[in-house]
Amino acid sequence: MIKIGIIGGTGFGRADIVTNRAEIKVHTPYGAPSDLVTTGEIEGVPVINIPRHGRHHNIYPSAVNYRANIWAMKKLGATHILAVTAVGSLREEIEPGHLVFPDQFIDRTTRRIATFYEGQEVCHIPMADPFCERLRTLLGATAARLGIPNHPRGTVVTIEGPRFSTRAESKMYRMWGADIINMSTVPEVVLAREAGICYATIAMSTDYDCWHESREPVSWELIQTVMHRNAEQVIALLRAVVGEVDFVRCSCKEMVHGACL
Ligand SMILES: [Zn+2]
Repeated sequence: MIKIGIIGGTGFGRADIVTNRAEIKVHTPYGAPSDLVTTGEIEGVPVINIPRHGRHHNIYPSAVNYRANIWAMKKLGATHILAVTAVGSLREEIEPGHLVFPDQFIDRTTRRIATFYEGQEVCHIPMADPFCERLRTLLGATAARLGIPNHPRGTVVTIEGPRFSTRAESKMYRMWGADIINMSTVPEVVLAREAGICYATIAMSTDYDCWHESREPVSWELIQTVMHRNAEQVIALLRAVVGEVDFVRCSCKEMVHGACL
């Protein structure tokens, strides 16, 4: 059975799009998830919702218990995860309000636990293509069908935060080939891969970070304003895409299989 996990990000904790709702307190070996877990349906498809930063948005990116969130998703039977995140744009053509469905990440986090494996096993998980290709492609096609401005691939650089980048850093990330920047994709995507759950990101561009000389540098207020203004697009996309997700073969599960010696 398909069950879709939705991890809501900044400006998007919206459990109210879920019908037949129930709230569950989940205990995990890694501590508590970010909040109570909401289960229910979107368009008749079973879903699980966790607001990444808590419903009151009081958990900053470095303090999110990513392992507990992914473990809770796995425990409750999530087969796929759609992760919503606000991002800064490192490219002129990725305008505020546009959606991006990244296919690559660059990890600039420094103090997060990025694996479930900490015992005696030696595990090396393939990460050449970290996002579920099939889910990402489906998001791009569905957004295009709905007329939502989108970029069907891109590289996200995840920084530790909580501070934003300096101009020098922002320009360096552009030179590295990064297209968007945030503070939450890593280690979430890595842990989902370890858990064998297909994972794709719905990234909403909210600003031009600080590399763009003629645009206002990113601020918390700017992110919230743009995210709230465009949340309806994310909701429309989620409603349209959940019914299209299927088990047509992708290689996310196989990549983990046999990775642990
Ligand atoms: Zn997959």
